[in-house]
Amino acid sequence: MTDLDETMTGAEVIAHALKTQGVEYVFGVVGVPVIEVGMAIQQAGIKYIGMRNEQSASYAAGAIGYLTGKPGACLVVSGPGLIHALGGMANAMVNCWPMIVLGGSSDNDQQSMGAFQEFPQVEACRMYSKFSEKPTSMEIIPEIIEKAVRFSMYGRPGACYVDIPGNFVNAQVKSKTLRFRGMCPPPPRSLSDPGDVEKACRVLQSAKRPLVVVGKGAAYAGAHEEIKELVEKHNFPFLPTPMGKGVLSDDHPLSVAAARSRALLNADVIVLLGARLNWQLHFGRTPRFQKNVKIIQVDICPEEFHNNVPTTVALLGDVRNVIKQLNECYHKTYRGVSWKLPMKSEWWKTLQEKINSNAKQTEDIANDKSVPLNYYAVFDVLKKQLPKDCYIVSEGANTMDICRSTIPNYLPRHRLDAGTFGTMGLGLGFAIAASLHAADTARKNGTEPEKVVCIQGDSAFGFSGMELETVCRYKLPIVFVVVNNNGIGQGAGKEFWEGLQTTDEIAVGALPIFLSPNARYEKVMEAFGEEGHYCESADQLAKAFQRCLSRSNQNPSLINVMIDPSSSRKKQEFGWLTRSKM
Ligand code: ADP
Repeated sequence: MTDLDETMTGAEVIAHALKTQGVEYVFGVVGVPVIEVGMAIQQAGIKYIGMRNEQSASYAAGAIGYLTGKPGACLVVSGPGLIHALGGMANAMVNCWPMIVLGGSSDNDQQSMGAFQEFPQVEACRMYSKFSEKPTSMEIIPEIIEKAVRFSMYGRPGACYVDIPGNFVNAQVKSKTLRFRGMCPPPPRSLSDPGDVEKACRVLQSAKRPLVVVGKGAAYAGAHEEIKELVEKHNFPFLPTPMGKGVLSDDHPLSVAAARSRALLNADVIVLLGARLNWQLHFGRTPRFQKNVKIIQVDICPEEFHNNVPTTVALLGDVRNVIKQLNECYHKTYRGVSWKLPMKSEWWKTLQEKINSNAKQTEDIANDKSVPLNYYAVFDVLKKQLPKDCYIVSEGANTMDICRSTIPNYLPRHRLDAGTFGTMGLGLGFAIAASLHAADTARKNGTEPEKVVCIQGDSAFGFSGMELETVCRYKLPIVFVVVNNNGIGQGAGKEFWEGLQTTDEIAVGALPIFLSPNARYEKVMEAFGEEGHYCESADQLAKAFQRCLSRSNQNPSLINVMIDPSSSRKKQEFGWLTRSKM
């Protein structure tokens, strides 16, 4: 293909440029004009995964970017295909994950004529990306792809878009006119200003009630060793954000995740590592935080500092490097004399007391295995069998929230959920990405692949359930658990529906949050030749889960577990999305 005297098609140029840039996975849905691009990508030895909907393909590309640190690509057709992929681009942008979208578009010489699926794609993608470009010639395609890959990883990671005019796909270009750039090196890792690091040390040293918050930026940066050293050297309590879970193991004795609200509310100094003071952290404001809480923030993006509340010490740089600097600064300043927050301090006592009372409350609900089951009982059954090294994908409001607080993660970057954008419907795309990554990692290391368990509410599953066909076609050994409450947030039982006879009654009587009662989602899996299980009791669930985990070396399966339609989170001190004040 690279013989300089030969010609290449546009499709081959794109595939070769992607390969040169080290793109390993392309998720897509082919059609006019990108069929040949999909084929060329496969021929170039890149893993092409044919999905059923562009939205899931774009979610998968973002997730693989998060898991590997290199952008996954998403290949889509023009117009509606591209529009479907915007969901995944926005999700990747908001989560700060690298990905690129390659969108077929109408032929250049039909622009503005009302061509098939014509749409202003470059403009549409601009809002959802860091870089959005249409190559003006075939010769420039490799340059544009290199730039898209580089931009997606460098600085704050995000999505990039490359437009593929239809008339470029099968047109020929002389190989010698093409300049394929070498693979873009991984992003350089930056350090903070040493003066700022010293200031951070001083502020931390003066803290009475310090707290370390570990975000998914820290997970992405692979900063687990450095953060472990920081918290263990000083006995700092820490808590993870939802996808910061596992950077330090959830069973670490310094974790105060079970006293989250109390820790946030009372801390006087917070070290914020790769996390934003957005809705997920209640904007850093009262009533969820102290009014004058000091924030030491580490972020790769300078615009992130002082958002919503002033940053006391802004440590600009890669979180792994900056924590290394902080650890070294402590060591130098205190000449190796360790300074530890006593476990008998008032701060640790108040946190410990809350951890214990919350654990008791949760245990009581989880032990109640009466039928219909509640969320906590379901997760209690799963938790007892989950391997420590498995990937957990989780979505659906209650399912995700309760799963987050009850099912532990032990390894970094092993939890994927609705994330900062609160996107529902991404579970299957994410699980597919995690499963491919697990298999590849195992192949490289000569080990058994880590398992992937996708725990979704019935509403979340419905957004992209047909991707089960993709899962079965590629034989991806994922265990799906649909926690079925017959609705969005809350549902109604069979009896309610049986009472409704006519269409009019259904329109008036059935709230928009209700979904069909006892829908047999497991049969969707059976339709593609794999195993489905329907469960109502804890015993049935335990047996089914054991069976699914044991066959998950080879085959996917799905458990549809019915729960009480009115089951919800245990009583919370603060309501969901409690309003914050200055
Ligand atoms: P969470 O959902 O865990 O709260 P967010 O997505 O809100 O996390 O925030 C992640 C933050 O991490 C972003 O502000 C992003 O700029 C930052 N970030 C990403 N990669 C790095 C890195 N390598 N070093 C430091 N910060 C990073």
